[in-house]
Amino acid sequence: MEYRTVKIPDKINLPTMLDFYPLQTEKWTRVSRFFENLKEGKLTTTQCKACGKLHWQPRIVCPECMSDDLEWVELPKEGKLHAFVESIVVPLGMEQEMPMLVGVVDVSGLLISTKIDDAKLEDLEIGMDMELKVVRVEDGKQERYWYRFRPKK
Ligand SMILES: [Zn+2]
Repeated sequence: MEYRTVKIPDKINLPTMLDFYPLQTEKWTRVSRFFENLKEGKLTTTQCKACGKLHWQPRIVCPECMSDDLEWVELPKEGKLHAFVESIVVPLGMEQEMPMLVGVVDVSGLLISTKIDDAKLEDLEIGMDMELKVVRVEDGKQERYWYRFRPKK
């Protein structure tokens, strides 16, 4: 019997479906502006021009009134810690960051889920001041950015 030889690759690239970070360009998302702003250090979202509703996350249609007449608004770079937990279950590829602090930060009344950086569990307290941290995602394929929060210094 004859067998076909198959070479096992040194590195296996995960399919996009398993990628924790969203694809950020205009080709892949209609909220690409969010990522462009994030790259400049700004946390932004959409606000409905028809009913005034401020959204989180950014939308392309207002979930309140179904209008697509939205505008981009910049959010403050600071907020208050609303909730937090130390997680021992992390997304694929982030095993080196275990255990991971995750939480919800209140920014202008919007509850934003986030990874919490530069802190230990015992450093955190509900209501404490938090600040935005923008990170560049290194994957060797494309330049991507994401937000996190950390205790305000
Ligand atoms: Zn609306």
